[in-house]
Amino acid sequence: MVTEKEFIPFQAVPLPEDGTGETRGKALSHLYQVLWDSYGPQHWWPAKEPFEVMVGAILTQSAAWGNVEKGIGNLAAAGALSPAAIKQLPLEKLAQLIYPCGYYNAKAHKLKALAQRLGDGYGDKLDDLFRLSLDSLRRELLSIHGIGQETADSIILYAAHKPIFVIDAYTRRILQRLGLAPPKEDYTSYQALFMENLSHDVSLFNEYHALLVRHGKDTCRKVPLCSGCSLRHQCPYGLQILSGTATAPASGESRPPARH
Ligand code: SF4
Repeated sequence: MVTEKEFIPFQAVPLPEDGTGETRGKALSHLYQVLWDSYGPQHWWPAKEPFEVMVGAILTQSAAWGNVEKGIGNLAAAGALSPAAIKQLPLEKLAQLIYPCGYYNAKAHKLKALAQRLGDGYGDKLDDLFRLSLDSLRRELLSIHGIGQETADSIILYAAHKPIFVIDAYTRRILQRLGLAPPKEDYTSYQALFMENLSHDVSLFNEYHALLVRHGKDTCRKVPLCSGCSLRHQCPYGLQILSGTATAPASGESRPPARH
């Protein structure tokens, strides 16, 4: 359990020019510890097989996880939760099965592209794909239609079990509010922040990302619930909200896409 005394106040952490350094690493480690103390283990990824993780990573783009589960359930019931089965399934039928996930036509094309690459390049053997080095695997995934950085990194971490940090809208929002955002606010800079300041441990990256999503969904929402947040004494944004010197965003504003 991290006490308030032990915790480094985020706004007191000097940020080196390059966004890295021992203090930044300590702040990220403490943040992890507080989230862990608040929420406990998240048991990600909620899937039985690596291919199900890959399918889920595509279906969850701009979709709530509950709807993704319905789509995956439909695929499983139709015996279509394998690369070979997805390749054989007519596109319209595939789109129909994943209808609950939204953007079903576009996502059907993405699943087809994934299944095609797995078949052509690896004989449908995921182990052969995952044998690639982390960098080669990332390049390979990013070259497949419909797989962007967040989706590729989710597959690398949660299906291939290689150490890469997944960045999403929740992570960006939480780090911005805590005063921990990198100077350059792009995906690569956020990812470098974690990769350069934490040990490359699959279990740590797995749990840390899951905890950030949990915190972003439950507490650090678009309209944050700062009064009940374990980080409220260290968070510059939360302190402003609670002291009345800043106004929380209106609830009608857009929210980051719910992933899980
Ligand atoms: S204090 Fe408020 S803004 Fe800061 S992390 Fe907690 S919920 Fe988010």
